[in-house]
Amino acid sequence: MKNFACEACGNKVYFENVACVKCGHALGFHPETQSIVSLVANAHDSSLYRRFSSPGETLRYCANAFYGVCNWLTPEGGHDMCRACSLNRTIPNLSEFGSLQAWRDMERAKKRLVYSLLRFGLPFEDALSPQGPLTFNFVRSAMTGHLDGVITIDIMEADAVERERQRQQFGEPYRSLLGHLRHESGHYYWNVLIHAAGRVDEFRALFGDERPDYSSAISQHYSAGPPGDWPYRHVSAYASAHAWEDWAETWAHYLHMVDTLDTAEASGMEPRTAGLAFGTAWPFKTYDIYREETFDALMERWIPLTLAMNGLNRSMGHEDFYPFVIPGPAVEKLAFVHRAIRERPS
Ligand SMILES: [Zn+2]
Ligand SMILES: [Zn+2]
Ligand SMILES: [Zn+2]
Repeated sequence: MKNFACEACGNKVYFENVACVKCGHALGFHPETQSIVSLVANAHDSSLYRRFSSPGETLRYCANAFYGVCNWLTPEGGHDMCRACSLNRTIPNLSEFGSLQAWRDMERAKKRLVYSLLRFGLPFEDALSPQGPLTFNFVRSAMTGHLDGVITIDIMEADAVERERQRQQFGEPYRSLLGHLRHESGHYYWNVLIHAAGRVDEFRALFGDERPDYSSAISQHYSAGPPGDWPYRHVSAYASAHAWEDWAETWAHYLHMVDTLDTAEASGMEPRTAGLAFGTAWPFKTYDIYREETFDALMERWIPLTLAMNGLNRSMGHEDFYPFVIPGPAVEKLAFVHRAIRERPS
C-alpha cells in the first residue's frame, strides 16, 4: 500500500484515519486516485466537503461513516455508499452484542482487499458481466465461502479468541480476516481471469484438474488431512484439498506479497538479494509495483524482506511475520497468478 500524508500539513497518516492528529483536517479515502485526501467542511451543508488540494471537487463521506466503519469518499450527487460499501449485500444485525465491532473489523480488512483490486485495475463492480459484481455477506454463524460472486464471511472470525482457536484446530501457521477475504476473492477471479479468459488448460497444467467433485474433496481433506508431500507442492496444507482451493490460496498469497512489498517500498525500504536497505528519500520507488514489476523482480525482493521482517518480529518476541516456505511448484503457480492478472483481456 502507498504511504499517505495529510495534504494540509504533510503529517504521515494511515489508510484508516478520519482526521489528521496534527492539524485536525478531516481525512478520507478517495478511490479514484487511491489516496487519502484532506477535507475542508462546507459552510452551508455539514455533509459536504471540498478537497483541500482541489477545491473545485465536492465530496461526501460514505453513508457507513455514520457507524464508524468507513472513511471512503463519494462524489457529491453520487451514491450514498462508497465503491467498497456498495458491494455489501448483508451486514451483521447491529442490535446484537459485538456485531458493530465485528463489522468494523471486517470492513477494515475488506477495504484493503478493494484497495488492491483498484490498484491492479481488476474489475469488481460490473453488474452486467457474466460474473456480476463482487458481493459480500457479513453474517453470524454462516459457512465462510464463495458462491457465484458472493463472498460470505462468518463474523465470528472477527473474534480474536475464536479465530485463534480455529487456527490451532486446523493447524494453520496464520489466520486473518484479510487472508480470508483475499482467499475468497480468488474464487471470484478464477471465473473472471481463468474460466472467462480461456486459460483453463494452462491452469490445469499447474494446479491440476478442478472437475473432481468439490464438496467431497473438501470433506476428504477435513477427514483424512492433507497428503504428506503437500509442503513440496503448495503454499499451504489447505491448498492441497482441491485445485480451486490451491488457486485461491495461491491468489491470496500473491496479494499478500504485492501489497506488503508495495508498503515496504513506499516506506523507504528496499529489499535486495543481499538483504534489506533503507532509503533516505521518500517516496523511494518510481514505478508502480501493482502494474509494472516482473514476477521475478517481485520474488527477488520478497525473500530478503520476509527474512528481515521475521528477524524484527523475533526481536520483539512476536510470532514470525511470514511463517511460510514456498516450494518451487508453488512459485510457478504464483507466477501464473501474476500473468493471469497482468495479461487479462481488457
Ligand atoms: Zn494535517
Ligand atoms: Zn463505505
Ligand atoms: Zn476457498
